[in-house]
Amino acid sequence: MKFHITKKEIQALLDWYQKEKRDLPWRHTTDPYRIWISEIMLQQTRVEKVKKYYERFILELPTIEDLAKVKEDHLLKLWEGLGYYSRARNLKKCALEIVQKNLKTFPETKEELMKLPGIGLYTAGAILSIAYHKCIPAIDGNVLRILSRIEEDPRDLLNEKVKNEYLIHLEKLMEPSYARDFTEAFIELGALVCLPNGTPVCQKCPFQQICQSFQNQTMLKYPHKKVKNARRKEEKTIYVLEYNEKYCIQKRKKSGLLSGLYELPNVDSFMTKEMLNTFLQTKKEQIEKIQELGKFHHVFSHIEWEMTVYLVHLKSPNHHKFYSKKEIETTYSLPTAFQKIFIKLK
Ligand code: SF4
Repeated sequence: MKFHITKKEIQALLDWYQKEKRDLPWRHTTDPYRIWISEIMLQQTRVEKVKKYYERFILELPTIEDLAKVKEDHLLKLWEGLGYYSRARNLKKCALEIVQKNLKTFPETKEELMKLPGIGLYTAGAILSIAYHKCIPAIDGNVLRILSRIEEDPRDLLNEKVKNEYLIHLEKLMEPSYARDFTEAFIELGALVCLPNGTPVCQKCPFQQICQSFQNQTMLKYPHKKVKNARRKEEKTIYVLEYNEKYCIQKRKKSGLLSGLYELPNVDSFMTKEMLNTFLQTKKEQIEKIQELGKFHHVFSHIEWEMTVYLVHLKSPNHHKFYSKKEIETTYSLPTAFQKIFIKLK
């Protein structure tokens, strides 16, 4: 395939980046640890949201040794609301491996980096180019979107062969003196100009002259999208157990969705108030009253939860553990699906 981007266009991209780049906290460091944390947080999460999570995380766990030592509950609390919690667990696994192998910091080759838990081709490229100024491109969906539009490339961008072709070409365009800005500039262009949803802002793009889809006004046709499977819908009944102004939370099982995190008690089906009353009586709960709190909805990547929620006031604690609102807010990681119910409790 003949590529249209040459070093001349890369220079135009770098000039554009110097003028337009956003001031983001992780752009003030060359510490591979901090760059790694920001990159993992930015996967699947918007920049604005990541900013405050990143700053709090770095304040509490400023080094890789601190991360290796952190208790899982505390780590998940720092991650609460970011979703995809396996990312947080992999961070800790990776930090532990680096500390246990006495590596001190991240290795400086792609092969060694990719042996660490949770580090794939993109993250390895980001760490190597941003922290170590190595000519290894970081290619994610944003970069591939830009490239597919420039080349009017109809191929499946998830195909390893296609990705590899772009990787090899971009590598040839990189120089150590601007490897960091090269990666950051592509990220910035994907976020501010060559947008994923809606019309790209081509009049501001440094690649306009060579962009094939701009010339032919076919920007919105690229990248070619596969039809996604519809999300599975699940009905749930959530019953918030309250005793003495404290609430019951419990740990989810160690596998499946939101594994090992805390949850409000629930069942995997719809229940009316009467059905719930009967169900709780079979569990020997001493019910004072049941209040209906309404319907809540939560969307995960592949599943949607339709939740019918009740607040159950108990006369006795039975065998449950209860926590104050403050304890739950400060200590335990309640995923967003439950958090949105919890914050509605008066
Ligand atoms: S000219 Fe438009 S479509 Fe082409 S890379 Fe730039 S923003 Fe994207």
